[in-house]
Amino acid sequence: MSESPPVGRLEEEWSVNVEHFKVKLLEKRRALVEAIARAEEEVRTASEGEVGDPLDRSVDDTAADEGLHTSSVDSETLEQVDDALRRIEQGSYGKCVICGKPIEPARLEAIPWTPYCKADQEKLERVKGLGSTPTL
Ligand SMILES: [Zn+2]
Repeated sequence: MSESPPVGRLEEEWSVNVEHFKVKLLEKRRALVEAIARAEEEVRTASEGEVGDPLDRSVDDTAADEGLHTSSVDSETLEQVDDALRRIEQGSYGKCVICGKPIEPARLEAIPWTPYCKADQEKLERVKGLGSTPTL
């Protein structure tokens, strides 16, 4: 009998298929990088158009604003994707960065880069909501 009992770990019942999410994250990362590059290209094209007819300016400005907006949302997500990949390397992927509890599997499946569990995400959104709408 050369059987040695496995080292007791708390993670036994909670095991995340890290490889599965890593693939998803890398795919998302590639898509985001492309989307950001595309948005930047559109902004460049739009601002080139501004040189011409002044009547077209307002339309071009709107297009440029939308491009910038999309780009900033995408780069925010890209940061979260990179953070998630880092957490995979560190072995802490799948746990809420605030309370340390495992993130709901369905939630991870839907948003593999989320750093928060559902409860903490909702708390954060509530805080954000209150901040942007002062009650006076
Ligand atoms: Zn949490």
